[in-house]
Amino acid sequence: TKAKVAINGYGTIGKRVADAVMLQDDMEIIGIAKTRPNFETVIAQEKGYHVYTLADRVEAMEKEGIEVAGTVEEMIEAADVVVDCTPGKIGATNKELYEKAGTKAIWQGGEAHDLAGCSFNAETNYEEALGKDFVRVVSCNTTGLCRVLSPLDKEFGVKKARVTLMRRSADPNDIKHGPINAIVPNPITLPSHHGPDVKTVIPGIDVATTAVKLPTTLMHMHTINLEFEKECTAEDVKNILAEQSRVRFVGQGITSTAEIMELAKDLGRPRGDMWENCVWDESITMYEGELYFFQAIHQESDVIPENVDAIRAMMELEREGQKSIAETNSKMGI
Ligand code: NAD
Repeated sequence: TKAKVAINGYGTIGKRVADAVMLQDDMEIIGIAKTRPNFETVIAQEKGYHVYTLADRVEAMEKEGIEVAGTVEEMIEAADVVVDCTPGKIGATNKELYEKAGTKAIWQGGEAHDLAGCSFNAETNYEEALGKDFVRVVSCNTTGLCRVLSPLDKEFGVKKARVTLMRRSADPNDIKHGPINAIVPNPITLPSHHGPDVKTVIPGIDVATTAVKLPTTLMHMHTINLEFEKECTAEDVKNILAEQSRVRFVGQGITSTAEIMELAKDLGRPRGDMWENCVWDESITMYEGELYFFQAIHQESDVIPENVDAIRAMMELEREGQKSIAETNSKMGI
């Protein structure tokens, strides 16, 4: 029998996780929870997902023609694992519901590490999540950093990582956030929280980050600067990154995040998603003993395969991280 998965919060991340879970052989979506009867709710229903909602929203949903399968509590009761994709800090308020029902839960990067006690990146610490009741899949930026820092640390020992994160300021469907004509240091107090977040997955690594928000919706960009314990060349680093299934080298006239998003569309990816870190292999350079490179991160989608792997680990459907990663990749088309 397949693991029964429910999605609480069917927004940018939630709808993508739902579709990725449905592609797998060993898990299925038993329901999604929405608070409002908007176009996303209608499409979810058209796709065949059972729509659940808060007890006081049932009437509003039915008035708009949505067939309500039950309350969020009933959905949680029926599931083996809930993927909580509600907005940051709201997820924490749902913990009691999951505990009461005895249902496993996955939170996203907008929640604090302590809420779950286990912060997850498949390549880095899959085994740590085996059989766990609560796991947090780290944010888009932290996922992108773990995917490159972890294998390079294992191979050469990262002595020091310094990263500048240039962040998209809003998702493409977001009309509330900005700026639209400025560059905003965010946070102004340094270093930023992203470095400590990486340490929740790779304990003890020396990483410090700064971050700015830019008037773009497409992707984040990282400038990564590394010093290693062991002697190595740019070519050695390139070889390690080339082996990573969720790192894609870009070149061939791709000089910006805009062209990467066009590539994702040309590849026929659902919603134009780019699940892999996009590293410009040409940028991988050793200069005066320090390594530098650029990578772009698609904030709306890089965490999606990680959520699938987290479900597999928590439900112990697969004990080996690399096998789960391979399975998720092959079903999604990575
Ligand atoms: P979103 O705003 O796109 O979606 C959240 C959804 O939850 C919406 O559909 C909203 O209606 C619904 N919701 C709100 N309150 C609810 C409640 N009480 N019960 C059920 N549903 C409720 O948010 P998102 O961008 O998908 O972010 C979700 C989480 O993923 C956050 O923790 C965020 O930090 C994290 N995350 C976001 C991104 C990104 O770039 N968008 C990337 C990685 C991680």
